[in-house]
Amino acid sequence: MRDVSRRLGTAKTVSARPARRAPNPAERTAWNRLSRTIRACQLCPLGAIRTQAVVYRGGLAPRVVFVGEAPGAEEDRTGVPFVGRSGRELDRAIATLGLRPEEFGVLNVLKCRPPGNRFDPSAARTCRPYLDRQLDLLRPDAIVTLGARALRAIDPAAPPMLSAAGRPRGQGRFPHFPLIHPAAALRSRRLRARWEQDFRTLGRWLAERPA
Ligand code: URA
Repeated sequence: MRDVSRRLGTAKTVSARPARRAPNPAERTAWNRLSRTIRACQLCPLGAIRTQAVVYRGGLAPRVVFVGEAPGAEEDRTGVPFVGRSGRELDRAIATLGLRPEEFGVLNVLKCRPPGNRFDPSAARTCRPYLDRQLDLLRPDAIVTLGARALRAIDPAAPPMLSAAGRPRGQGRFPHFPLIHPAAALRSRRLRARWEQDFRTLGRWLAERPA
């Protein structure tokens, strides 16, 4: 049989691994409680102007969690992260990794849309415990950061975005792989080439990681 995944440059071996342990009932309850808390949050001024808080989409025992910056208009309307143009580009690229839907998840540093889509560092500090708790409960094997704000939130010591992108960092609890934001890939031909190249590197990195 022809190895189509190899021809397409996809990481077939990522999904050839045994499934991760599903969350137990207590973990599921904790996740649901956390999600409800985020949806009801009014700890910063963004709570008063959002349509909906945007919590998470994906499996509850993911190998990989993609961390974005903040919800945009479509996400604010639907309550689901990365469903607009950037999200469609992200999903297209994730499909090349050969991950099953339950093997990845998508969330943001900020849970509520900031006015004019301008990242709000003060709101991000208030939101931070939500991100930490989400990662504690999801326990991914690896994190992929999308854009400079997400990179900074996960790894404050990382070099500037374009130096960091495409190179895995950290051997700690959540090794991570920085990527530029998909919106940047949609804006410029040069950054699209970089996005695609770094995504291929990400596929190889994930395939090589121990199960
Ligand atoms: N950009 C992000 O960083 N997150 C989203 O959910 C949508 C666009």
